Amino acid sequence: MNDAVTMDKIVSLSRRRGFVFPSSEIYGGMGSTFDYGHYGVLMKNNIRERWFEAMVRNRDDIVAIDSAVILHPKVWEASGHVAGFTDPLIDCRTCKLRFRADKLEDSSCGRKPSKHPGETPECDLTEPRRFNLMFETTVGALQDEGSRAYLRPETAQGIFINFKNVLQIARRKPPFGIAQIGKSFRNEITPGNFLFRVREFEQMEMEYFVPPDEADKWYRYWIDERLNWYRRYGLRDSKLRVREHGPEERSHYSRGTSDIEYEYPIGWSELEGIANRGDFDLTQHTEYSSTKLEYVGQDGERYVPYVIEPAVSIERIMVALLVDAYDEEVVGERERTVLRLHPKMAPVTAAILPLIGKSDDMVAKARSLYEDLRRRHSVEYDDNGAIGRRYRRQDEIGTPWAFTVDEQTLADDTVTVRDRDSLAQERLSIAGVGGWLEDALERGWKSPKGN
Ligand code: ATP
Repeated sequence: MNDAVTMDKIVSLSRRRGFVFPSSEIYGGMGSTFDYGHYGVLMKNNIRERWFEAMVRNRDDIVAIDSAVILHPKVWEASGHVAGFTDPLIDCRTCKLRFRADKLEDSSCGRKPSKHPGETPECDLTEPRRFNLMFETTVGALQDEGSRAYLRPETAQGIFINFKNVLQIARRKPPFGIAQIGKSFRNEITPGNFLFRVREFEQMEMEYFVPPDEADKWYRYWIDERLNWYRRYGLRDSKLRVREHGPEERSHYSRGTSDIEYEYPIGWSELEGIANRGDFDLTQHTEYSSTKLEYVGQDGERYVPYVIEPAVSIERIMVALLVDAYDEEVVGERERTVLRLHPKMAPVTAAILPLIGKSDDMVAKARSLYEDLRRRHSVEYDDNGAIGRRYRRQDEIGTPWAFTVDEQTLADDTVTVRDRDSLAQERLSIAGVGGWLEDALERGWKSPKGN
């Protein structure tokens, strides 16, 4: 099947159907910042839920935490972010734009015809200098050196500084993990590609503490687990791959890093990173805080655990899911755009439609089915316009099933269920719809776009 998707089509559908809006639009917009509309919020909730379920709820060895966004500034000294969380920045004196020195190939210069920075004789680039990506702020009424603080650029440090609390209160023993979901902030030099690189994003990170001699085993384990999670939620195999970083590419703390990459319309790019952070973070915080962060067993055994970290943002998952799902096809001489999303990721699970919106009897039946289903599922009622148009609206937001109340329903209390992907329709009794939906959600789903 030919992949019709481009980033522009995803941006335009997201906007048209109220998934994502450019932020502060009435003030002229704020580059690469976005607000989520209703369907975007529903989809983000699903991504968060599926992650939390796999990482925390379905396991005995991982607990949750929700730490502050603004932490003690020393946290970021200890973690190495104040000194080292930088990207190489280059200015162009001609077009006045800024670029990441290591991403010149992916950037375009501000002048027409647009070329990569440095490609034309007019480009007048400065030498690269280090630019720290942390957003600074001040805390309290006084704005001086002592009040300086940072918005967290990752959620991980909020986990490390709570290591002792969790160890004591949750009474855990390695291997065990702490998971956190929350906003992170990075003053990216070149944000862009829709939600792929933004300055505030919602990270989902889990720090898995293990005995040092088991670190490699668990590193491999988490690469597999996370890859399988993407497969389970329908991302096609041919669009996923694991890329191991070479030693020169790794972060200062890393003893091994692999990216799960997805083939976005911009090319293969990092979706999620899995790193073996060694004992770097716990050792640094022990040194800077003078609080010993180590595991002490009942038999007196003591060691600083190594940490395996799967880290991803909801934004990068959302773009991958939308891109993977986007499809256009001609059905009965009419073109339809459809999001072939996994049913558990789709913002709306089912639409309830009276065939004729002006029929009081059909409306009453449909509304009563809707009221019943909405207590357990994300469902939508729609009686506005021709039925074909209503189906298309649901296709565009990826609703897997539509239940339609028609003439026959009034006679025998059955409805049709229409399948978004195959367009097949079958009849079932109204009383059985709830159970049918539960079963359908538990069935595995594979993208009809292939592997
Ligand atoms: P990149 O090389 O793309 O800048 P990174 O290696 O700095 O990413 P990490 O520090 O490993 O990213 O962050 C973990 C995860 O957080 C990434 O895999 C990605 O899913 C997400 N992430 C990082 N930066 C951004 C961003 N600016 N916008 C959206 N998601 C992000």
